[in-house]
Amino acid sequence: MSCSSVKHRFETEKQKGLSFLRAMELYQEVEGSVAAHKMEIGELQHTNADPEQIRHLQEHITDGEKLLQEIKSLHLH
Ligand SMILES: [Zn+2]
Repeated sequence: MSCSSVKHRFETEKQKGLSFLRAMELYQEVEGSVAAHKMEIGELQHTNADPEQIRHLQEHITDGEKLLQEIKSLHLH
């Protein structure tokens, strides 16, 4: 599952109104992919990986963490 598709789903579902449970599910999904990307970066740093590939993963992590912050600051109406 790519990070941008989770973000897209979050944006779409937020328009319709997210339930607490759904927000929590999306949160866990993003948290999982951020953790996976951090591991991938860790592994890549042990090899002669393409710096571009690492930079790309870093971007996913940054975006993912932003999304986590956004979900954390959601207000229930
Ligand atoms: Zn990603």
